[in-house]
Amino acid sequence: MSQIYDRVALIGLGLIASSMFWAIKRGGLAGEVTGYARSEATRDTARRIGLCDRVCDTAREAVEGADLVVLCVPVGAMGAVAEDIAPVLKPGATLSDVGSVKQHVIQAVQPHVPEGVHFIPAHPLAGTEHSGPESGFAKLFDNRWCLLVPVEGTDPDAIARLRALWEGMGSYVDEMDADHHDLVLAVTSHAPHLIAYTMVGVADDLRRVTDSEVIKYSAAGFRDFTRIAASDPTMWRDVFLSNKDATLEILGRFTEELFALQRAIRTGDGEHLFDYFTHTRAIRRGIIDAGQDTDAPDFGRGKASS
Ligand code: NAP
Repeated sequence: MSQIYDRVALIGLGLIASSMFWAIKRGGLAGEVTGYARSEATRDTARRIGLCDRVCDTAREAVEGADLVVLCVPVGAMGAVAEDIAPVLKPGATLSDVGSVKQHVIQAVQPHVPEGVHFIPAHPLAGTEHSGPESGFAKLFDNRWCLLVPVEGTDPDAIARLRALWEGMGSYVDEMDADHHDLVLAVTSHAPHLIAYTMVGVADDLRRVTDSEVIKYSAAGFRDFTRIAASDPTMWRDVFLSNKDATLEILGRFTEELFALQRAIRTGDGEHLFDYFTHTRAIRRGIIDAGQDTDAPDFGRGKASS
């Protein structure tokens, strides 16, 4: 693969930025990658493990001279970081981000973007429940989607270049507008995370009855909820606070469906339950056919881990 940018700056050095770095290196997609993280501890770790060609002590230093700057910090921190680096953004450079919510990031960042800088928000639909500079790996984005959310009037060449970078990191790339992105993600990611957090919280409440049984006999359903509910608290607090409307809309619909299922159980309406579960099983098949998950029993974990 060939070099797409001379210099890329990654601001925030957690799961997503570190995965980007390893994927950029794997593909030889940039001449130099600089990085900055807020805490000295994270910067030290990055230096120790060789994360970034150059780790800088200020965001401005990392950004100076970069052709592409990617904000990889929690959604709630994007505006302040953009304001800080704005004066040193190179004319003609692209400013992007990886935030899980797009409308809020656009509102927070766009006012700070100087004339002549291309602002192209993005969101890779890939992640794990781990965070921090040591959690990243080059394959994270392989065969996963990255959504670009360009604002109106963005230079098509700048979009094509960012698309080429994400494709080089292994992603499929699509474009979407911010409102639609936030609604789609509320259905596919944000509401499911809230449901997982709730379910694990409920099981924890029941601990007085079940003692350690919740953990000991943790079967696949609950265990998968606990994995999701182990996700980073800062990131997810910011997601819900910044994608409030879409998440509340989906949770409203979820509650209606839940009441319908509750009624079916109470009244013994097996037909309703059977039809509903048949429909949801077809959705699972669609996800596997689209190559977005494995059909292996127990998600391919194998006997040892079950
Ligand atoms: P992470 O592993 O928790 O890393 C976050 C990084 O941001 C850390 O380097 C942290 O620095 C820095 N940071 C935190 N607060 C900051 C602040 N106020 N100012 C400056 N820097 C700050 O997070 P991540 O999982 O990579 O997520 C980063 C972004 O990607 C988020 O916007 C998230 O919505 C998005 N995203 C996440 C996933 C996922 O599954 N994790 C998937 C797609 C998109 P310190 O280490 O020094 O504290």
